[in-house]
Amino acid sequence: MASLNSHAKDLSRFWKGKILWDSPMSKLSTLKVGGPAEAVISVQNSEDLKRLLLWLKQNYIDWWVVGRGSNILVPDKGIAGVILVLEGEFNSIDKLPVPVSSTHTNKVLVRAGGGCLLPKFVSYCTSQGLSGLEFGVGIPGSIGGAIVMNAGAWGFEIGSLVESVDLMDSTGIISAVPGKSLGFAYRKWSMPKNTVLLAATFALTPGNKENIKAACRKYQDLRYKNQPVGEPSAGSFFKNPPAESAGRLIEKAGLKGFSIGGAQVSPKHANFIINTGTASTADILELMHVIQQEVQKRFGIKLEPEVHILGRE
Ligand SMILES: Cc1cc2nc3c(=O)[nH]c(=O)nc-3n(C[C@H](O)[C@H](O)[C@H](O)COP(=O)(O)OP(=O)(O)OC[C@H]3O[C@@H](n4cnc5c(N)ncnc54)[C@H](O)[C@@H]3O)c2cc1C
Repeated sequence: MASLNSHAKDLSRFWKGKILWDSPMSKLSTLKVGGPAEAVISVQNSEDLKRLLLWLKQNYIDWWVVGRGSNILVPDKGIAGVILVLEGEFNSIDKLPVPVSSTHTNKVLVRAGGGCLLPKFVSYCTSQGLSGLEFGVGIPGSIGGAIVMNAGAWGFEIGSLVESVDLMDSTGIISAVPGKSLGFAYRKWSMPKNTVLLAATFALTPGNKENIKAACRKYQDLRYKNQPVGEPSAGSFFKNPPAESAGRLIEKAGLKGFSIGGAQVSPKHANFIINTGTASTADILELMHVIQQEVQKRFGIKLEPEVHILGRE
């Protein structure tokens, strides 16, 4: 792939919107680490996105979409390529009519843009008395990131609510894909790399507003009780191995509170790696390796990171 350097002038001429050059990814990541991306571009609508993806393809430039950056880790040396952030039309939320032929006559269909923040969508559902997403309270992602990660908590996963999605491939072609064809599994979907989630339609259940609010409060309280809410993190760092809890294994390995540089295994929840203020990505990766080695040595289990390490895939 080519570096953007030699194409910077071309890109400035081609793209009329704002381009943030050499922009620190620590600003776009909830772990607050990561070196600069060569360029960060906010995209407002599908037509612009298509034009930009075609330009990037023609010029062999790498690119990534980033939502809220709550499940990414970016190398300290930064990212050679372009980071795309979905804004404008991608922030929308709209109720849709349920087709007469639908099997979902008792459901309400709501379409949310890929850039829409999950907390905003959960609040919308609560205000409309729509049940299904209560478990998502406290997950600080975007709709795009939540679907790519099949975000979940307390035994629920977002994939089970997805009726259909609009996707764009790296050549700008848009397709509508049913939720059941997205290959959702534990903390992942199965779509090819460089597929952009433009929007998703959710099938939600009309419910009692007070009950929905009460469920949201319950899940929020559980988070405050058990997780280091407010500390810079990426949520659970490792996937839970089958029938095990990554946090329990890390704690049993004696690593709760252990730190390398500014990266620490949270004293509150051992599956959270937190940035105590001065962490670099190198600190976090080193801590990740130590945790993996210790857990492997003691329990014979290889912990897989849940976070996406950009530039490494
Ligand atoms: C305090 C805290 C608590 C958390 N709790 C939970 C939890 O309970 N359950 C859980 O599952 N997760 C949890 N997380 C992790 C994270 O919030 C979720 O995985 C979230 O869904 C990620 O969304 P995002 O927009 O931040 O994705 P990002 O981190 O921005 O991106 C994640 C991946 O999705 C890709 N991506 C993002 N948007 C798009 C798009 N539109 N199209 C294509 N690809 C895209 C990125 O390229 C990247 O590969 C938590 C994180 C934090 C910080």
